[in-house]
Amino acid sequence: MNNNVLNLAGKCSGCGACVTICPYNAIEYKLNEEGFYAVNIIKERCIKCGLCTSVCFKNIENNNKLKNIKKDGQLISARTKNKKILKECTSGAIAYEIGKYGIENGYKVVGTIYDVKEQIAKTIVVDNKEEFEKIKGSKYLQSKSDEAIKNIIKITRNNSNEKLIIFGTPCQIYGYRMVIEKLKINNEIIYIELFCHGVPSYLIWNKYLNEQKNNEKIKKVDFRNKKYGWHNFTIKIEKNKNKCKYSKAERDNFYKIFFDNIFLNKSCMNCKLRKEESNADIRLGDFWGKKYSLDTNGVSAVLIFTKKGKQIIDKINSNIEILEKNIPIEECLKYQSVENYQEKYSRTQLIKDIKTNENLTKIIKQYRNDFPIKYKVKCKIKTILSYLPLRLNIKIKSKFKS
Ligand SMILES: Cc1cc2nc3c(=O)[nH]c(=O)nc-3n(C[C@H](O)[C@H](O)[C@H](O)COP(=O)(O)OP(=O)(O)OC[C@H]3O[C@@H](n4cnc5c(N)ncnc54)[C@H](O)[C@@H]3O)c2cc1C
Repeated sequence: MNNNVLNLAGKCSGCGACVTICPYNAIEYKLNEEGFYAVNIIKERCIKCGLCTSVCFKNIENNNKLKNIKKDGQLISARTKNKKILKECTSGAIAYEIGKYGIENGYKVVGTIYDVKEQIAKTIVVDNKEEFEKIKGSKYLQSKSDEAIKNIIKITRNNSNEKLIIFGTPCQIYGYRMVIEKLKINNEIIYIELFCHGVPSYLIWNKYLNEQKNNEKIKKVDFRNKKYGWHNFTIKIEKNKNKCKYSKAERDNFYKIFFDNIFLNKSCMNCKLRKEESNADIRLGDFWGKKYSLDTNGVSAVLIFTKKGKQIIDKINSNIEILEKNIPIEECLKYQSVENYQEKYSRTQLIKDIKTNENLTKIIKQYRNDFPIKYKVKCKIKTILSYLPLRLNIKIKSKFKS
C-alpha cells in the first residue's frame, strides 16, 4: 500500500485531485520534464497519511478497484439545431447545448479554455454567458486543472445549493468525483466526460508554436476548425484577422505527432477509462464510423449512463436534433481509441531531439523511419487525399471505411 502518491508520479494523469485533498499542502502541481502536468511530493511536509492515494485515479486503477464504474450506456447520435454553433464546435455541439442550459438555469459550468498568453489549456469555472463561450471547442492538450478543482471544492463547501456541470477528460472527471465523494459534498453535480484519445506533451506543443510563430504573436488557436468539414481535423492559427493559417492534420506536424501516439502522457498509454468504462453521467465524442461518414457538419456520439444524464438530454431536447436512438455501443466504440498504445520510439531520444534545433518535420521523418511499412503507406495515402476537394476526399475516405 502506497502512503503517498510519490511512487505513482510516473503514471500521474494530472487531474489535481491529490493536490486538493492534501491538508498539509505537501503536493506540488507543475509541468514535468516530459512536458505534462503532474504532481510532486514535498517530502518535508508529507506525513504519509495516505489521503492522496485514496483519491488517485491511477492508484485505484492499478489496484483494479475503480469505483462507480458503468459500462452499459444508452447511445444516441445528435447535434445542435443551431447551424452557427455547430460550425464553431468540435462535433455536434452537444457539450455546448448542455453547458448553455446550465448557465441559463443557475449552474456553474466547469470547462477548458486555451490561454494564448500562457500557451496552455486551462480548466476554469464559469457562471456567465460571455465566459462560457470561451470553453467551446476541444483543445487537444492536457488542461491544467489544479486551480479549477480547488475552486469547485471551495464553491460547493461554501454553499450546498450551488449546482455544477463539469466537463473534462475521463481521468479528470474520475479525480474530481473522488475528492467530492471523500469530502462528502452533496451538491447537485452533473459529470460529463469526453471520449479521449490521450493528451500530447507540451514539449511538442511549444516547439510547434515556436515554428508557427515566426516572431509574430499568435492571437487565437482553434484546434478543430470545420473549414474543410467535420472529418478533416484542421487547426487554425490566427495571428490577426487577416492572417489565419489552416492546416489539415495529415500535413500538420502537431497533429502528426498526436495521431502517431508517439508522445502522449504515460498515464494515457493503457488508461482504462478510454475504453467502455465510465464514471460520468454522460460521455461525449465524435460519432466516427460509416454511419455519418459523408456528413460535413458534425455529429456527436452521446453515451448516457445515468438517470441524471438522461434528464439533462431531455431538458435540451428542443435545441437538438436526435438523429438516432438506441444504437449498439459497438458501432461507435470500434472507431474510438480504445486499444492500449505501444511505445513505438524511445521517449528519451524524442525529448533529446525536441530540445535540439532540429525542426519537427525532420524529427517526424526520423522516428517514422522505424514504423511498419503499412503505417507509412497509410500516412502517404492520407496526405495525398488531403489535397483533394472536400466532397471527393470524404467520398473516398467513406469507401475505405466500408
Ligand atoms: C484531449 C481530448 C481528446 C479527445 N479525444 C477524442 C476521441 O478520441 N474521440 C472522440 O470521439 N472524441 C474525443 N474528444 C472529444 C471531442 O473532441 C469533443 O470534445 C466532444 O465531442 C464534444 O464536442 P461538442 O461538439 O459536443 O462540443 P464542444 O463545445 O466542442 O465541447 C468541447 C468540450 O470539451 C471541453 N474541453 C475542451 N478541451 C478540453 C481539454 N483539453 N480537457 C478537458 N476538457 C476539454 C470543453 O470545456 C467543452 O466542454 C477529445 C477531446 C479532448 C479534449
